[in-house]
Amino acid sequence: MLSVHTSPLHQPGTGDAGGMNVYIVELSKQLAALGTEVEIFTRASAGGLPPAVELAPGVLVRHVDAGPYEGLSKEELPAQMCAFTHGVTQIWAGQLPGYFDLVHSHYWLSGQVGWLVAERWGVPLVHAMHTMAKVKNAALAAGDSPEPAARVIGETQIVRAADRLIANTAEEAAELVRHYDADPMRTAVVHPGVNLDVFRPADGRAAARARLGLPQHALIPLFVGRIQPLKAPDLLLYAVRELLDRDPSLADPGRLVVPIVGGPSGTGLARPERLRRLADRLGLTDLVRFHPPVGQERLADWYRAASALVMPSYSESFGLVAAEAQACGTPVVAAAVGGLPVVVRDEATGYLIEGHDPVHYADALARFAADPGLSDRLGRAAALHARRFGWAATAAGTVSVYRAATESHRFALRSAHG
Ligand code: UDP
Repeated sequence: MLSVHTSPLHQPGTGDAGGMNVYIVELSKQLAALGTEVEIFTRASAGGLPPAVELAPGVLVRHVDAGPYEGLSKEELPAQMCAFTHGVTQIWAGQLPGYFDLVHSHYWLSGQVGWLVAERWGVPLVHAMHTMAKVKNAALAAGDSPEPAARVIGETQIVRAADRLIANTAEEAAELVRHYDADPMRTAVVHPGVNLDVFRPADGRAAARARLGLPQHALIPLFVGRIQPLKAPDLLLYAVRELLDRDPSLADPGRLVVPIVGGPSGTGLARPERLRRLADRLGLTDLVRFHPPVGQERLADWYRAASALVMPSYSESFGLVAAEAQACGTPVVAAAVGGLPVVVRDEATGYLIEGHDPVHYADALARFAADPGLSDRLGRAAALHARRFGWAATAAGTVSVYRAATESHRFALRSAHG
């Protein structure tokens, strides 16, 4: 597996580490359990890292030197692709022939490396986009900068070169075909998963609130994720302001808490204080609580404690946090974009909202404020719904794609050699 720009060993929820990191870790562990050994190549982003680290039995993370360790942004990485590819081929050269059976690349930067090494090693290339420049650019938040043309060209090359593409949802597969002219026969849909051992209702909302020191009867709309314009945490703050304007008594102590769990990322890094300042400006200083990213066990308690997870993103290829929150028995109020309509069942496990008007988010939150039993009712259905997203199913689906890619690759090689 190739994960050039972010390491599976990084804490997700800030910087470049997010759902893709969780995806690679969980998928690799499940693949290893099914008998497919995995080696994940990632760029060394700190000095003194060991060349290889065992992440789990059968899963090895290899650090590749390419460019300066720290302080290199994702936008600067294309200049280091040659160095990275060189590092990967050096490691491969030290192995027995036929060491790798297949290359699985994640995100377009890795796809560029995968394109080259898969061809050189004579093995199939399977690629997962995770996000697509054209889709992202069509749904930018106000003031967010568009993805460059070089990325669009790079993605188009990978779509052509890959033996198989893996899309998170049927919608993403359709976007690959529509925007990148992908071959539908070579585009498979495999849903990401949720670690159902970690993300489960456990001892419930009251116990989680007690552990986190949160008021028992408060309305708690929770934001979890990387703080960047695309994820629109500001929209939640505007919605909370609207809610308070409708019912100022919600500002009384113990009635409303708005936790934001995660760190700055991408274009959000340019002004990391922006969201805090917005909270101050909207008069929400005492209600909004910022928390740095946390590990998955602790995160599960945040989900359980919330009345609802709010995910107002402009674009989301799947939205793992929406699936995780539901698995913990918490409903989700989400923008009806990307994979979220697959993850959230409107009116059954939460609410899907068209557009990005804070008033509509405030309407949804008002329903929770008016009906204290709503979180539990929708949450029970949410926990059941989320059970269909286990990582074991993702791994089984991925193995099928590997098999199909291997067969068609062999067939193509045979045809090419007469
Ligand atoms: N996450 C985490 N700790 C945090 C915040 C987020 O581990 O404090 C993880 C979360 O569990 C989820 C991932 O980061 O698996 C975010 O994935 P998502 O698909 O929601 O968004 P992405 O980051 O891929 O845009």
